[in-house]
Amino acid sequence: MYAHVLLAKPARSTQKIFSYSVPDELKDKIQVGQQIMVPFGKRRDLGYVVGFSETAEVEKTKDILEIVSEEPLFDAKQLELAKWMAEYYCCFLMAAVKLMIGADAARNKKQETRTKQEPSNNIQIPKLREAQGKALSEIEKAIEKKQAETFLLYGVTGSGKTEVYMRAIAKVLELGKSAIVLVPEIALTPQMVERFVGRFGEQVAVVHSHMTLKQRRVARDWVAGGEKRIVLGARSALFAPVQDLGIVVIDEEFEGSYKQDKSPRYHAREVAKKLCEIHQAVLVLGSATPSIETFFEVKHRLSLPERINQQPMPEVEIVDMRKEHKGALSQKLRDLLVETFEKKEQSILFLNRRGFFTFLMCQKCGFSFSCPTCSVSLAYDHHDKKLRCGHCEYKIDPPRSCPRCNEEALRFFGTGTQRIEQEVAKLLPRARIMRYDRDTVTKRGSHEKLFKTFSEGEADVLIGTQMIAKGLDIPSVTMVGAVSADIGLQFPDFRSAETTFHLLTQVAGRAGRHHLPGKVVIQSYTPEHYAIQAAAKHDYESFYNQELKHREELSYPPFSKLITLVISGKNGAKVSKIADDLAGFLKKGGSVARVLGPVPAVLSKIRGDYRYRILLKGKDLPAMRNLVCETMEKTVVPTDVRVIVDVEPMALL
Ligand code: ADP
Ligand code: ZN
Repeated sequence: MYAHVLLAKPARSTQKIFSYSVPDELKDKIQVGQQIMVPFGKRRDLGYVVGFSETAEVEKTKDILEIVSEEPLFDAKQLELAKWMAEYYCCFLMAAVKLMIGADAARNKKQETRTKQEPSNNIQIPKLREAQGKALSEIEKAIEKKQAETFLLYGVTGSGKTEVYMRAIAKVLELGKSAIVLVPEIALTPQMVERFVGRFGEQVAVVHSHMTLKQRRVARDWVAGGEKRIVLGARSALFAPVQDLGIVVIDEEFEGSYKQDKSPRYHAREVAKKLCEIHQAVLVLGSATPSIETFFEVKHRLSLPERINQQPMPEVEIVDMRKEHKGALSQKLRDLLVETFEKKEQSILFLNRRGFFTFLMCQKCGFSFSCPTCSVSLAYDHHDKKLRCGHCEYKIDPPRSCPRCNEEALRFFGTGTQRIEQEVAKLLPRARIMRYDRDTVTKRGSHEKLFKTFSEGEADVLIGTQMIAKGLDIPSVTMVGAVSADIGLQFPDFRSAETTFHLLTQVAGRAGRHHLPGKVVIQSYTPEHYAIQAAAKHDYESFYNQELKHREELSYPPFSKLITLVISGKNGAKVSKIADDLAGFLKKGGSVARVLGPVPAVLSKIRGDYRYRILLKGKDLPAMRNLVCETMEKTVVPTDVRVIVDVEPMALL
């Protein structure tokens, strides 16, 4: 008997599957998923059993030395998923297997302090509305038929999506199966956790990233043993060792946090699709503003057209900043800040500031520069003082006056957002101002602290980046201002309109969530842009239709598939040489994909590392992947140069 073994150390030379013979005394004990010790070269190494055969594939095999973990750390279905991920995302199999081993579920603290976790009867389970009932029965049918179908549950916040998720999950439990529920960030969704625990009690396992090893082990046993049948968590909850999976729910599926930004660079939606296929389970994607890809691809659309409490969406006003001449805050926004403060209600000012880049825009007419072929904004490069496209080789010298209106009113945008805080302080000297962005968040638990401090009325104005766009649900917030909506639009990436639309919609949703009516102001130099217009009208479908047209014209996803290679390192010349070599190989690949680049990445230098990017655009993703894998195998990459392959990247930075 021979075991197929995957070595634990992920490196290109060890990613083969090796055959070892199983000594007699281990034959009864050995299982797929066990961690074992094997001889490798002159050393002993850890590995994992991934299969068996009766005949050896090589002439001489060595014996397995010992079984390290009696309990298997992954099962056959998880292994199948890992193999698929390694292929799909061009990553080491071990990197994918690691996810299966590392992902566990645990009780959260709240649950532990509770004596009983029986589902309460105080809980009123509402009678479903008609649209909810229809949606549920479609989902239930698929669950009963064991069909690996994907549904889009399409409805605004408050339209009753979560109630439908919970009913579908109840059905799954009734059939003796399990469920996985994904939320973008567990810390931002305390209400979701409470509702699930309130409804399903002991059966819920909440996954979070700060767990001790012991907690992990205990939780793994609970989930693997079927004691807990609902796993709730961020993207890694997909890898919990659930038994007999019946449903996966992904709430707010468009969120960027569903894509992992280190290897394996997977997207939870794609992995969930595969997982559901393996288990013949149902996938439910829920959102008011689905990603363009999802709205385009998912055929089963279940709509919840109304809010349960009939509450209207907040009123949104767009302020044309071309007509304003006093700093970063418009007169309208100033008036509302004062008014809200005087009423002792709270305001949120939202600054769209992702990464660090600068762009040039005309203050008179709103003109900005974009690439004639790629149609993305040109970013200003401080090093050589050029405006350049982040996707192709196009670059120009910044002109003195605006090409559209001829005025000498071109200004650099994108930095200096701290100024907003000073402007507010000057306007409202007695107001308590709170600032919150990625720079000020260092400690874990900061989110919760912010939620608490602000919701207890400890500040009058909250200023922050997109991190505050999510989750905050505070009755006395009645005014929200999106100070710099354009920065998102000028972001040099093909998804910039989409992310801006999502952010503005979410930001607008922070105001007037309860009995007090809300006011929202969007400041923009391009108020006619469809992303801004549609966000102000809460009109997803008009946004979708225009964005889709745009994507089709330029053949961006969903009309094409993308793979990027980012080549980086301290030695600029070496990095550039490797990038050229790789692009050379890729371009010989013929018709599989258009190969753009290499170009200096938008973020052309990070912490002393030079960065170049190659973009592949094509229709046939498997063929593109093969081409990339082949290229990587043929190219000798020196140790001080890093090549990152990103299949279906979220952003092209
Ligand atoms: P969403 O997930 O779309 O934001 P929820 O499921 O959270 O919507 O529903 C919004 C609110 O309405 C919640 O407080 C929920 O308990 C309540 N709710 C949901 N469905 C019903 C219903 N059929 N009847 C009464 N209340 C409902
Ligand atoms: Zn270009």
